[in-house]
This record gives sequence, structure tokens and C-alpha cells, in this order.
Amino acid sequence: MSEKMLTEPCQAKIVKIKDEAPETKTFTIKYVDEALQKALHFTPGKFFMLSIFGYGEIPISISSSPLKTDSVELTIVDVGNATHALHPMKEGDIVGLRGPFGNGFPIQKFRNKDIVFVSGGCGMAPLRPAVKAIVGKRSEYKKLTLFYGCKRSDQMLFKEDLKEWSGVENFNTLFTVDEGTPDWKGEVGVVTKLFGKADLKPENSIAMIVGPPVMIHFAIIELKKIGFKEGQIYASLERLMHCGMGKCAHCNVAGTYVCTDGPVFSGAELAKLPLEEK
Ligand SMILES: Cc1cc2nc3c(=O)[nH]c(=O)nc-3n(C[C@H](O)[C@H](O)[C@H](O)COP(=O)(O)OP(=O)(O)OC[C@H]3O[C@@H](n4cnc5c(N)ncnc54)[C@H](O)[C@@H]3O)c2cc1C
Repeated sequence: MSEKMLTEPCQAKIVKIKDEAPETKTFTIKYVDEALQKALHFTPGKFFMLSIFGYGEIPISISSSPLKTDSVELTIVDVGNATHALHPMKEGDIVGLRGPFGNGFPIQKFRNKDIVFVSGGCGMAPLRPAVKAIVGKRSEYKKLTLFYGCKRSDQMLFKEDLKEWSGVENFNTLFTVDEGTPDWKGEVGVVTKLFGKADLKPENSIAMIVGPPVMIHFAIIELKKIGFKEGQIYASLERLMHCGMGKCAHCNVAGTYVCTDGPVFSGAELAKLPLEEK
């Protein structure tokens, strides 16, 4: 199904709000226009520009499954002007949506391969559609492994999904936190510490990484040590942007637009970009 990209904001209704973690909510949002609801299709890893009228417009990754597309879920951390205005909003309130933008993860190319998902903190939001799409077509992919690290256990997103994925055939899910708390019985330490605990076979594998830049940097180093080649690694970047469609140049890194050339880049492409680690 082809993707229709809206370049101007259209009215959309908040139909559901879920508290996901401290300062983090998942908003289910549906275009008011039924024709737009029906035309909604997206690739995992894409993002929308979300308008909070009177406050601003911000890029937000789609966090829901691409297999169910009359609405989208956006998982949003309350950090500043626009997100402060969004968080107290209620079901039934109207926002604006335009998109979907960006390239997304080319998961069709990943069929018949072992898939390694690496996620840090809120990076689980853009990665979740890819996990859901692959789990939804489980027989088309080989072994699955998820490494997910957060600062604390209460900051882990999508806890119901994490539990469900642990029960999926041949899907190894490993979790860690930076700071242990009395309720946490699992691993403590950075997410790359988990790599040695899984029997990764790089030959026929693809790794998808989403998280803070420093995590992406070290995850790529560690994956390469295990034997992953640059072409087997994909990571999603976040850069400040205003338009989402290659016009404002805010997200331009050495001639590459994160909004239109990315936000997903292969390891080979990342190696050519002058990115900071933090
Ligand atoms: C492609 C893309 C996808 C994104 N997906 C998500 C998502 O799924 N969920 C989510 O919660 N956030 C996501 N973000 C980040 C989100 O767009 C920003 O947090 C948001 O713009 C903050 O807006 P604000 O007006 O609330 O905060 P502001 O008042 O603009 O800023 C608050 C603080 O955050 C900093 N900041 C703002 N935007 C960014 C940014 N993009 N990168 C680094 N620092 C920033 C500011 O410098 C300031 O310190 C994404 C960003 C991009 C580029």
C-alpha cells in the first residue's frame, strides 16, 4: 500500500491517552477526516509533525504498529513548551498532524534474517512499529533479539508488549537499567553489556538501533567487534527540525538532511556523517 504524505497540518482527534512512564504518555490520534484515516499507511521508523495549536509544531516518531493504521500512537515525553501544552490535553481534544515523513526502516529487505533490536530509553518508541511489524509476520524472519536499556525500570516503555514479546517463539528479550531499584531483579548496566549474554550470529543478521547518540555510538562499536558489517547496521537519528521535509535545513548534517535522507541511516552512511557522540 502506498503512503500518502500530507505536507500541511490536518485536524486530528486525540482518541486515547495512556500513561506510559513518568512524564511520558502515549496519545492515540486519528484524523478527523475519514478519507485521511483510510489513506494512513506508514513504514516503521517514520515520524509525524504534530501541531499543538497556539504552542508549536514538533517532530514525533510513530510508535504504533504499521499493521493497524486508521490511527497512530505517538509516545511523547514532557520536556518543553509544546509538550507541556500537550500533556494536560484530554481525549476528544484536537491537534494537527502532517506526514508521515522520513525514510523508515527498510524491513522488507530484512526478511529471512536474524534481527537484533537495540533500544535505549525513549528509543523504544520509534523501534516498536518495527518490532510489531516483524512479530506480526513472524515466519518471514529468523531469530529475534531485543536489547533494551533504561535509566530506571519505571522508565521502561510498553511493558505489556515487552511481556508479550518475551513469549514469542525464538525471540530473546534482554533488559537492563542504569540504576537498580528494590523492585528490579534484572541486569544493571549499559545496554551494550547485554550483547555478550545473547548468542548473536552476525553472518545473516541485521541490527536496528534507536536511542541517545552516545548509545548508538557504542552499540555500533560493540556490534562491529562481534562481527557485524556497517551494511548490517541501521540506526535512527534525532536532530532539531522545523519542517520535516527538507526545507528549513535545521537538521542538515554535512549536506545530509536527517528529515528526508533519514532519520534511519545505515552504518555505512553513519560512518560518513560527522556526528557527535553525546
Ligand atoms: C525525527 C524525530 C522524532 C522524534 N520523536 C520523538 C518521540 O517519539 N517522542 C518524543 O517525546 N520526542 C521525540 N522527538 C523529540 C521532540 O521533537 C522534542 O522533544 C520536541 O520538539 C520538544 O518540543 P517542546 O516544545 O516541548 O520542547 P522545547 O521547549 O523546544 O525544548 C525543551 C528542551 O529540549 C531540547 N530539545 C527540543 N527538541 C529537541 C530535539 N529534537 N533533540 C534534542 N533536544 C531537543 C531543547 O533544546 C530544550 O532543552 C523527536 C525528534 C525528532 C527530530
